[in-house]
Amino acid sequence: MLQSVLSSFVEPGDKPALNRARYEALSKQIPVMYAIVIIDMLAMSYTHFSYAPVYLTLYLPAILTPVTIYRSIKIYRSRFETLNDAQVRRRLLTINILAAILGAICVGWALALFNYGDAYTKSHTAFFICLTTLGVIACLMHLRQAGIILFATVVCPTVIFLAATDQSVFHAIALNILLVSAAILFIMFRYNNDFTDMIEKQQILEQQSKILKILSTENLRLANLDSLTTIPNRRRFFSELSDRIEERKTSQETFAVGILDLDGFKQVNDVFGHPAGDQLLIDTSVRLRELLDKDEVFIARLGGDEFGLILNNPGSEREVIALGNQICDELLEPFEMKEGSAQVAGTIGFAFFPDAGDTPSVLFERADYALCYSKQNCKGTVGMFTEEHETLIREVSSIAHRLREADLSEELSVYFQPIINTVENRTFSCEALARWHNPILGNIPPNVFIRSAEQSGMVSRLTAILFKKSLDAAAEWPEHVGLSFNLSTYDLCSPESLLNLLNTIEKSNFKPERITFEITETAVMQDFMRATHGLKLIRQLGAKVALDDFGTGYSSLSYLPRMPIDRLKVDRSFIEDIESSQAKQDIMCTIAQLCDNLNLESTVEGVENETQYKILDAMGYHLIQGYYFSKPLQQDELAERLVAECEMPAKKSASGRSAA
Ligand code: C2E
Ligand code: CA
Ligand code: CA
Repeated sequence: MLQSVLSSFVEPGDKPALNRARYEALSKQIPVMYAIVIIDMLAMSYTHFSYAPVYLTLYLPAILTPVTIYRSIKIYRSRFETLNDAQVRRRLLTINILAAILGAICVGWALALFNYGDAYTKSHTAFFICLTTLGVIACLMHLRQAGIILFATVVCPTVIFLAATDQSVFHAIALNILLVSAAILFIMFRYNNDFTDMIEKQQILEQQSKILKILSTENLRLANLDSLTTIPNRRRFFSELSDRIEERKTSQETFAVGILDLDGFKQVNDVFGHPAGDQLLIDTSVRLRELLDKDEVFIARLGGDEFGLILNNPGSEREVIALGNQICDELLEPFEMKEGSAQVAGTIGFAFFPDAGDTPSVLFERADYALCYSKQNCKGTVGMFTEEHETLIREVSSIAHRLREADLSEELSVYFQPIINTVENRTFSCEALARWHNPILGNIPPNVFIRSAEQSGMVSRLTAILFKKSLDAAAEWPEHVGLSFNLSTYDLCSPESLLNLLNTIEKSNFKPERITFEITETAVMQDFMRATHGLKLIRQLGAKVALDDFGTGYSSLSYLPRMPIDRLKVDRSFIEDIESSQAKQDIMCTIAQLCDNLNLESTVEGVENETQYKILDAMGYHLIQGYYFSKPLQQDELAERLVAECEMPAKKSASGRSAA
């Protein structure tokens, strides 16, 4: 019973955060408290030395001084220890117990000394007890129990002792001690309540800020993740890119940035629906994560079917290309989904820091350029940004500038290259080929300025001028000669320029049946739906469509039957060296069969000699274009040629030179 009363009297309470705060405060104040006690004690010993026995004036201070110094050091050091809640509580309990024991010893000692000396020393004793107690209570301010203990063990016995003397001065001092101690105890209690409140509020604030921190970390995480694939998103990619540049700026240590684009993804969306497209993107991210070491390669989804890569230690260009090829191979594996099996291919463009650029935007643009370049020239492969690209960029931007400034209707002209019907041995149609002569830049090759016009959004303007010039020229040709005109994807996919083309045909009085629009498969695949819609409109009017450069684009054969086209124009890369390449001959045979099966006409371009012509003739190709028959001609040269043709009787078998 007594024990439980005692323990409830000295127990510091059960609030860990509050106890910890108390202990922290006390550990700073207790050494000060012991210093007060020791100094006051030594002063007492000094004034009583000649009156009191040695065991009181010397021995006890001699024992207590090292004890208090030891305690001070211990408690001061504990500030640098990590204590658990139970340890803190135990130490507070020790402080309370020691307050009781040391308080009792000190007061006992002081009161023992009271019996010695004169009135001055007695007053000193009362003064010692009073001030030391107040100092000690002030130092133990944060521990309410310690205050009560000191009141019980020091103040009460002193007051009783002094009251029991027969000196009214000491009675007054006793009353004084009692009142001031009670007042201080009251203040201590108030302070303790305030302190408890403050700690509790602080604790709530800490918890709130912890929760806020967790929430903001979660928000940050979500803001940096792609919601579909759960890999980092575009924002994170760019912040990672900036970090990497910052980190390597001084060392100039290299890293590579890659942009991966899926070819054929749009078609998966169109054919299988959006859920399948989403699944394909998720599966792609899984394949990338499984293939690439996450410490070496940072992967992000940039949006749509585009993924970003940062290669921390890329090694040589060749190694990067090898890794890129590995990625492309991995993506070529069909994706099995519940809607069916889909196939896509990846094209990747890489750029190296710091050679290709040393800011996030430039580095990204360069990698994107390498990607676009690969997509245009060799889909499904890996491209690296090189110095050659750098020159091209400069060229194209200066070309775009000149195009904008130029008087295009004056500077643009059209050459025509005949496509020969080798059975009838006469011109079947003429392909309009754009020429641009600029007073400053000179002659610029058509593929260069057309690409620049496409990139700078000016191609429709060029097309309108070229088409008008071509129709004007073609109006002079014999009825059986058609006009082939090249369209870029922008002409086909922009309703405005498409309408413009159709209007021009209507106004021209040129029969639409005599016109063939040539469009590359790359252009069709860029926006399959829109392009096919445009092609259908063209065909509704009666004009024909040829798929140009067939065999160089990515489109898989499975898309061919769905394209509204009339003719395939086989790319000249299959004709080059066909004489010595059995593989090319086999390919050409297969394409001929394919055209038969799909009921498509075929044209071959780039035929440069008789051997090539004969090989193709034997395979059944009868619409042929190439230097062997004619180079692109100026309008009046072509007119002469056509007149000469009309004067010649039509033959059954063709001879290029005689026809030319
Ligand atoms: P393309 O449509 O494949 O045009 C055929 C290109 O091959 C022409 O180059 C032509 O001069 C060249 N060529 C013809 N026969 C032979 C041959 O036997 N051997 C070789 N080595 N080459 C031959 P050109 O005129 O420089 O045109 C290049 C490309 O520019 C065209 O390729 C076409 O994609 C584009 N282009 C030309 N004019 C226009 C146009 O008015 N509009 C659009 N959108 N593109 C055009
Ligand atoms: Ca063409
Ligand atoms: Ca072509």
